[in-house]
Amino acid sequence: MNIEEIEKIYERIQTAKSKANRTDKIYFTAVSKTRTVDEMKEAEKISWIDYFGENRVQEAESKKSVYGESKLKWRLIGHLQNNKVRKAVEIFDYIDSVDSVELALRINRVAGEFNKIIPVLIEVNTSGEASKTGINPEKFSELLDTVAQQENLSLQGLMTIAPITDSEIEIRKSFSNLRELRDSAKISTGLELPILSMGMSGDFELAILEGSTMIRIGTLLFGERIYNVK
Ligand SMILES: *Cc1c(COP(=O)(O)O)cnc(C)c1O
Repeated sequence: MNIEEIEKIYERIQTAKSKANRTDKIYFTAVSKTRTVDEMKEAEKISWIDYFGENRVQEAESKKSVYGESKLKWRLIGHLQNNKVRKAVEIFDYIDSVDSVELALRINRVAGEFNKIIPVLIEVNTSGEASKTGINPEKFSELLDTVAQQENLSLQGLMTIAPITDSEIEIRKSFSNLRELRDSAKISTGLELPILSMGMSGDFELAILEGSTMIRIGTLLFGERIYNVK
């Protein structure tokens, strides 16, 4: 991480906000998957970073066990398997990747056992790509109703990943789809749903133009990811 590069990210966010005529807060999730605890401690010093985002329960667990006190809260942004729900509820402050009724019910049940209320996002597959995680938009309203009814889940908003394409039009379409789903979900549930988690290193400016209130940045902050072959 280099101070000038980091300043540049901040400036790009400000520029995108002014282009979008926005002055509201846009939360910044530092996507720390594959990064070491030392790298995360460096990121923690940056005043405008709000959260860490991890995509694997096991990796987050092993990093948390050595991290010590963390100023930042931890969000699960990757697909959650049923058999990892208990551990996820134990270690994460937020679960952003609720993508099925079954998963929502299970998180709720385990959260109840821990006497916790878990803030969650519903992840929607707005791109139509089969490989992407997230609930299919046609099944969204059933999942929305389920999540909204669970006592130990607090629904804060929605998350999506845009398609991998050079077409700005398609990327923006995916983001605007999510915003429209959120707007109608606000009406149908009566919930605030302030969080629209969309935008990553390659597309966060477009996301801000489409109303994102939380961007998830890994590569721009920490550099290219190197996955360990296991
Ligand atoms: C890895 C990841 C990111 C960050 O991607 P970058 O392109 O490195 O910024 C954001 N969101 C999710 C869900 C991810 O898995």
